[in-house]
Amino acid sequence: MDRMYTRPRAIGHLDADCFYVSAERVRDPFLKGKPVGVLGNQGACVIAKSYEMKAAGVKTGEPIWEAVQKCPEGIYIKRDFHWYEALSKSMLEVMRRLSGHVEYYSIDEFFFVAEPRPGQSFQDLAVSMRDTIFKELDIPVTVGIARSRTLAKLISDSAKPFGASAVLDKEHEEGLLASLPVTEISGVAKRRAKRLLPWGIASCLDLARSDRALVRKLLTSTGEALWWELNGEPSGAIHAERPRHKALSRGGSLGESTSDPHRLHAWLVRNLERLIEELHYHKVMPGKLTLWVGYRDGGSGEGQVRLAVPTDRFDLLLEALRPCLRQAWRRGHLASRMHLVAEDLADRGSAQISLFEPPSPRAEALAELKTRINQRIGRFAVRSGATLPLADIYTDDANSYDICDVRGKICF
Ligand SMILES: [Mg+2]
Repeated sequence: MDRMYTRPRAIGHLDADCFYVSAERVRDPFLKGKPVGVLGNQGACVIAKSYEMKAAGVKTGEPIWEAVQKCPEGIYIKRDFHWYEALSKSMLEVMRRLSGHVEYYSIDEFFFVAEPRPGQSFQDLAVSMRDTIFKELDIPVTVGIARSRTLAKLISDSAKPFGASAVLDKEHEEGLLASLPVTEISGVAKRRAKRLLPWGIASCLDLARSDRALVRKLLTSTGEALWWELNGEPSGAIHAERPRHKALSRGGSLGESTSDPHRLHAWLVRNLERLIEELHYHKVMPGKLTLWVGYRDGGSGEGQVRLAVPTDRFDLLLEALRPCLRQAWRRGHLASRMHLVAEDLADRGSAQISLFEPPSPRAEALAELKTRINQRIGRFAVRSGATLPLADIYTDDANSYDICDVRGKICF
């Protein structure tokens, strides 16, 4: 048979190296080669670190005060997910030029169908993808190419940083699998590894060579899918379409607990303005809204509204949410948290225009102007007067950042 038909269909995994730090270095080259930590959670924890900082012993998730002791010369920066998301989109664009099938897996990870050009080997392709991303975006990445997703990820993980490796021959693949403990496979945590150990399954190769029925018994069908993947049989396709969010939400702690309805209303307005930023970003409009308020005594209240017509206009959404706040409010109880959830998301382009809700050119022009000014001058430069009871929140710069607002999955 022609070799063309027996050549394996290969899958690639591209993963940025310490992505948040690399993203900060793109806009500030001064940070290159220095120990850098990116902070999350109001600046309390290191959520990403450069290899220089890792060498000093700093761990992801470590509080800043411990990190500073281990790495006093480190540079600590607050994260900026809007910037990371913008770079992530640029990465996706470059990737799509290099492969016809790219799956956006997380903010800094992509799977793709590896299709070398005539005369190009899989290894050449891995190197050229890594180098193209670096040349065009200044972001170091590692690329692994193999017979399945799990194998490709194992290969890129072990080729970090700035590696490029295609492993398709059996000997090379087995050598690599033998050197990796099963916990290196994403989806096999310590608890699952413990179940395998009595059967003498410690390395990835042990797992690949185990009896499939046994693996199914020990790790259910998830484990069986991994078994197929480790044996080079892809169990899932590459999903080139990025799935649309089912829900978008904004909210969190209210800082100081409050029983003042005016202050609670101001929080609702603030969270709604943040939610609308997200709706605009994803170009969607909600058909359903839920407002949830958590109280210090452990209780909670909730209000829900179904919109006659999906909209992303501030005035209409606030009007719809006011009765929800009345439902969620517990007189005299101290509210400590609030969440606003948008569901039944419709594409902004395809959403129908209501016959009953005539378009308001004035309200739309105002919303547009507000967005443009805030994009140019600062996130909350123009905001609703209803947020005045929260003047203290807006004067503190730390609150211009969102907490836990990662779009897509978290990367480390
Ligand atoms: Mg990464």
